[in-house]
Amino acid sequence: MKWEDQRQSDNVEDQRDGGGGGGGGGGGGRRGLGGGRGLSLGGIVIALLASWAFGINPMTVLGLLGGGDGAMPQPEPSAQAQRGAKPQDAGARFVSTVLADTEDVWGAYFAAQRQTYSPPSLVLFRDRSNTGCGLGEAAMGPFYCPADRKVYIDLAFYDTLRDRLGAPGDFAQAYVIAHEVGHHLQNLQGTTAKMDSARQRVSERDYKALSVRLELQADCYAGVWAFHSQRGKGWLEQGDIEEGLNAAAQIGDDTLQRKSQGTVVPESFTHGSSEQRMRWFKRGLETGDLKACDTFKSGAV
Ligand SMILES: [Zn+2]
Repeated sequence: MKWEDQRQSDNVEDQRDGGGGGGGGGGGGRRGLGGGRGLSLGGIVIALLASWAFGINPMTVLGLLGGGDGAMPQPEPSAQAQRGAKPQDAGARFVSTVLADTEDVWGAYFAAQRQTYSPPSLVLFRDRSNTGCGLGEAAMGPFYCPADRKVYIDLAFYDTLRDRLGAPGDFAQAYVIAHEVGHHLQNLQGTTAKMDSARQRVSERDYKALSVRLELQADCYAGVWAFHSQRGKGWLEQGDIEEGLNAAAQIGDDTLQRKSQGTVVPESFTHGSSEQRMRWFKRGLETGDLKACDTFKSGAV
């Protein structure tokens, strides 16, 4: 991607530095995962299991890898964010540039339908952060919190994505942001609220199946973003699309399960298989049309 020198977003909150940034931790222990910045796949799986064990809905706490879509109605104040001053490091500038482009794309898309797009904020944190959905931790992977309408990411996740999950490349990283922003669109569209009410009514098994549809729709929305992004900026380079498709494949539930436990349990899927994730991302990419992303239609996935 030719992303340098493009506009950066004004909606980034950098909580990585300063005393207590990220909150929750109090003093010390900021490297709770043994000092390494990258997350192991095992760490991610442990986060998943822990959330099950404690009865926390994993949709609330896990982002790209395990949900991150459920609203928990007890907003906590997030740590003081330094708004205004733009971060200078390459990783932060990159996500800020991608976020700005999602604002351009979705702003124009909504305007074409005589609607106004209200963009999410993106919080950069290290290790952990108090969010409107409870305590967010790096081991959860990036996530979107519907209650405060913010995307949360610890940039160390990108090391995990490249080194442990086998998905290198800047466009793979952009896809992660676009997927989370896709959850924001679902929030604006009322889909997130429908999911919350479904959680009260349906069995756990049916809810998981719905959650797969929700995640595949976010993948499709990321594809729609990529379509319009490329039209607007022409900034994709050879190999970028392949990087995005590869990322979608590497974080498919079957691939993750095969790597971490050697077996695949389709009933436990929360995000969809590699094949499904690639297929829906592609559908968005080829149509550029949100309406093509109706993963909730019967027989769609
Ligand atoms: Zn997701």
